[in-house]
Amino acid sequence: MAEVTRKRELGRGERVLPGLWRLRLPLPWPGVPHCNAWAVAAGDGIVLFDCGLHEPGSLEQLERAMAMCNLRLEQVRLLVCTHAHSDHYGQAATVVQRAGCELWMHPNHEHMTRAARDPDAAFARRIEIARQSGVPAEPLRRYAEQRRERGFGIAELIEPDRPLLPGVTVDTDLGPWSVIETPGHAPSHVCLFGAERRLLISGDHLLGRVSLYFDYGWTPDPTGEFLRSLDRVEALDARLCLPGHGRTFTDVRAHIVANRELVHERLARVLDAISDEPLTAFEVVPRVYGDALSEQNAQWWLAETLSYLTHLAAEGRAQRLPGEADRWRRAPGQH
Ligand SMILES: [Zn+2]
Ligand SMILES: [Zn+2]
Repeated sequence: MAEVTRKRELGRGERVLPGLWRLRLPLPWPGVPHCNAWAVAAGDGIVLFDCGLHEPGSLEQLERAMAMCNLRLEQVRLLVCTHAHSDHYGQAATVVQRAGCELWMHPNHEHMTRAARDPDAAFARRIEIARQSGVPAEPLRRYAEQRRERGFGIAELIEPDRPLLPGVTVDTDLGPWSVIETPGHAPSHVCLFGAERRLLISGDHLLGRVSLYFDYGWTPDPTGEFLRSLDRVEALDARLCLPGHGRTFTDVRAHIVANRELVHERLARVLDAISDEPLTAFEVVPRVYGDALSEQNAQWWLAETLSYLTHLAAEGRAQRLPGEADRWRRAPGQH
């Protein structure tokens, strides 16, 4: 008889190239079953790029994935995080402690570290953004409860030993990797580019499946930042992409084009939605995505929609009408 209970996913490791391994780590999130960390040989050890979410048993999953590649945590000479989201940075403190290595990460990590340092304030701020976006009181209370239960997925707050900024290189046996700032998905996001082999460690900036997420509320225009980051990465002409989730892929430019097209398509839909009458972000969501906000998609879609509205306003194509809840309308004379 078929097994009915779903088995818990396990950490898995596989060699991608000589000296480069993919460590696939399970996530407890619906629709996002795992994330990737990448190990690259460096002298007598390895550089680890990203490290997975912190939750009960997560360190064993990382060690299990590494063991499948004959690697051990103690061999990590340096931990590099593409950005400060919990699935990429969550176990950083544990890895640094166990391996005695440094952590390098972009300095704009407040979107995570400030929130994790003061969860109540972060939570209140999120609720205020939702209220200001026109989310009614009852769903607001339900989203709030759900968020509070989830926690942050961070083992311990840890600051980077070195700011991962342009000009910094990460040396490995596969050559040096340079830092490309790619804000948009998160303010702290960077990609690492190994020019010798045209390899790109893309974090969540580029994934095999086009999937947009913008960390709203920390920078003036996440959508604009994301579009500029796509241009920056396109100019690298990478041959193989090592993404933060899913399999490696080679048609990097096609993925960049697909991301850009989806952003422009959604911007057009948002602008269309606010053409006839001023709407709150909450009211715009079902007109762009075809579905109303639910506990599952609330944070994601609301942040994305607000990012589009803010971008349109920054470009002079939309106007924000401040009020009890902000409304947005197409700027006069815009078609
Ligand atoms: Zn992320
Ligand atoms: Zn991620």
